[in-house]
Amino acid sequence: MNTTGYSCFSCGATQPSSFSGFTCPACGGNLDVTYDHAAARAGFLAALGEGARPDIFRYAPLLPVHDLALAPPVRVGQTPLYHADRLAAVAGLQNVWVKDDGLNPSASFKDRAGAVALVVARQRKAAVIAGATTGNAGSSMACLSASVGQPCVIFLPEKAPPAKIAQLLVFGAKVIAVRGTYDQAFDLCVEVCRARGWFNRNTGANPFTREGKKTCSFEIWEQLGRRAPDWVAVSCGDGNILSGIWKGWCDLKAMGLIERAPRLLCAQAHTSNAISRAVWSVQRAGRPARWSDLRIEPVQATTLADSISVDLPRDGLAAVRAVIESRGIAVTVPDEDILAAIPELARNSGVFAEPAASCSWACVRKAARDGQIKRGESVVC
Ligand SMILES: *Cc1c(COP(=O)(O)O)cnc(C)c1O
Ligand SMILES: [Zn+2]
Repeated sequence: MNTTGYSCFSCGATQPSSFSGFTCPACGGNLDVTYDHAAARAGFLAALGEGARPDIFRYAPLLPVHDLALAPPVRVGQTPLYHADRLAAVAGLQNVWVKDDGLNPSASFKDRAGAVALVVARQRKAAVIAGATTGNAGSSMACLSASVGQPCVIFLPEKAPPAKIAQLLVFGAKVIAVRGTYDQAFDLCVEVCRARGWFNRNTGANPFTREGKKTCSFEIWEQLGRRAPDWVAVSCGDGNILSGIWKGWCDLKAMGLIERAPRLLCAQAHTSNAISRAVWSVQRAGRPARWSDLRIEPVQATTLADSISVDLPRDGLAAVRAVIESRGIAVTVPDEDILAAIPELARNSGVFAEPAASCSWACVRKAARDGQIKRGESVVC
């Protein structure tokens, strides 16, 4: 653990490592965990050698965790990265890799976030870990909590898909169906956590989920022979995966382990495109004088890709900054393309994706067609 504190994405105010709140006390913005990269480097590299842990906690020198005995026993991360020749050819590209994060304990990327949040909650001896969810984040929290016997309370909109509610109940979480939207469930969760002293895992508001999500970049870097690809394409709803992926590459750069970070492709559905719209406006009009001036307008999301259907992105500013700082692009596609990408990906790579995940491939296809991604450039989806 080489953390030096927290810094606000919006106003830049910093907090010491001893800070135990979740959001910026000055402006309410989301917080970024900061590290002493020079101090972390040797330990980070040593932990990758012989006998490395087979999960995300092999990266502990760059995570906000100090007691690995508190890590969940189920294996999170170290998912395969497949070089998909035929898939690449479909898009007229030469090098496409698919990172199959469906092979996590609760079958989604969210386990990376949940695992780190869980360890921090246990380090703080939290009685209860709580979170609001539209589905996968809650299922993940329920699964990981069950693996260590941690009490877990999940708030979700009463209209959430029944199958996702069933998954939460099977893992033994206490489920509170909120008469209202995800946004209202989110706000209620914040209020209850504050009143009861529970640990709040809400996406964006909790600074530790991004830390878990960045481990995907460390893995890609290792799996490509300690190199960065030209592009990483990320399906985007709240924007927390995107900002986490970017953080991972920035950490590697800060340790001198890569020269150049990849460009990010922010992949969204036409009808859930709040982050993309903000990216396009910055690309058109230039960066705001201060990032806190950036307005991210909510949309009325209707995409069938439920895991990326978001009105008001909860980590939007960090995500927009990530795309801009990486010299990346935002691409959106209609739901027909998202659906068509599922069998295309499955038949050409053997990897099954839910709609939220197949969106990244649909957007890579479009970017390749439009010449935004060049034939010789390497892409990780
Ligand atoms: C949550 C989720 C996303 C989007 O992550 P955000 O952090 O909300 O942008 C994409 N794909 C899947 C499968 C997800 O569960
Ligand atoms: Zn702030």
